[in-house]
Amino acid sequence: MNKKVYIETYGCQMNVNDSEVVLSILQGVGYERTTDMGEADLILANTCSIRENAEQRVHGRIDVFRLEKKKRPGVIIGILGCMAERLKDKLLEGRIVDLVAGPDAYRSLPAMVAAVTPGNPQIEVQLSRTETYDDITPVRMDHNGLSAYISIMRGCNNCCSYCVVPYTRGAERSRDPYTIVAEARDVFSKGYKEVSLLGQNVDSYLWKAPEDCPEHAGESVSFAQLLEMVALISPELRVRFSTSYPSDITDEVLFTMAKYENVCNHIHFPVQSGSDVMLEKMRRKYTRQWYLDRVARIREIVPDCGLTTDVIAGFCGESEQDHQDTLSLFELVKFDAAFMFAYSERPGTLASKKYEDDIPQDVKTRRLNEIIELQGRMGFIRYKEQIGKTLKVLVEGPSKKTPDELCGRAGNYMMCVWPDKTHKVGDYVEVTVIDATPATLICKLA
Ligand code: SF4
Repeated sequence: MNKKVYIETYGCQMNVNDSEVVLSILQGVGYERTTDMGEADLILANTCSIRENAEQRVHGRIDVFRLEKKKRPGVIIGILGCMAERLKDKLLEGRIVDLVAGPDAYRSLPAMVAAVTPGNPQIEVQLSRTETYDDITPVRMDHNGLSAYISIMRGCNNCCSYCVVPYTRGAERSRDPYTIVAEARDVFSKGYKEVSLLGQNVDSYLWKAPEDCPEHAGESVSFAQLLEMVALISPELRVRFSTSYPSDITDEVLFTMAKYENVCNHIHFPVQSGSDVMLEKMRRKYTRQWYLDRVARIREIVPDCGLTTDVIAGFCGESEQDHQDTLSLFELVKFDAAFMFAYSERPGTLASKKYEDDIPQDVKTRRLNEIIELQGRMGFIRYKEQIGKTLKVLVEGPSKKTPDELCGRAGNYMMCVWPDKTHKVGDYVEVTVIDATPATLICKLA
């Protein structure tokens, strides 16, 4: 068929990996990827619904696709991902979008594309309890062939009150670990040096061998065991993972990180709030003290572990004291970095049904800015604490600022830059930290 597909991807790493799965499924029926929308027969946007502005952005893109369709009426426009799942046939109302497919419907894409005719749009938004695309080899979209995303599970059962994910990605299901190891082995054989194991909550990964799987009869694999299986592929293959969940992370995971040098010493550990009142309302299933105890345990078992987090400012009913509790937790923990957002009510979530979005926007903004300002200072302290240390870094390429310097991330996920004329992308290099900025470690070859 020799047709071309153009895909834009919004949101999280899992969406990037989903777009790679979509490309593979379409490649199977003769589509090849183009990065030039003007020559595409099929234009897709893989979307995110986590906050209102994420959806507004896609509505803006649909206006751009409208112009393309005006120029080329035969081009097919498709909306995929979480927004497709949340809005469903509402996306067809504008008569620009021809195809709407939710995160569990990508195997249907070839048939849906083939069935699209003017006035006959296609929609498939059924969520699945079993789909993991584990037999699909993603078509990698990364630019340097260094780091590959591997989704180890889909969906989420936590149902945090503010979150739209359980409604857009469905119930949790863990993927067959042997297909994960095979995929990691495959990308390693193709020169990749790092895999990132992805899940909304990797700590609840648990695979039980299905009855029709005699070679693994009665077997079950936890996240710690999966981590070890991937780490054993090769000491040259780095293993990262996200996202962790404070009430589910086990000591076994931490001991596995400590046991294998190639399992990176970094945990993305969303806290969302430092106030027990807010954590309760958010249905986060842990308390402030539990979170602080897990952080202490992480730093006990995995010294020098990089810690990053997510936080929401201005959740429903958040008092000034709740906000101060968040600030004091940030001061206590000193995260390396954080994703910080003002609460954005998502239609259909428990919070939107039960609580009023009652914090005025200017108060949300003031509180968010206070968290950002504090995190900037705390993160800088963490970066300065690295001065004098020698770190193992995976070379990603020339530094953006100084071309005769190289850059790459240490195991703790901190970005390093150093002068170097001998190494190349994909090499592991030992560097010594001589200085720091709030987001970069200034190094020299060790
Ligand atoms: S853990 Fe909570 S915030 Fe994260 S995806 Fe699941 S429901 Fe959403």
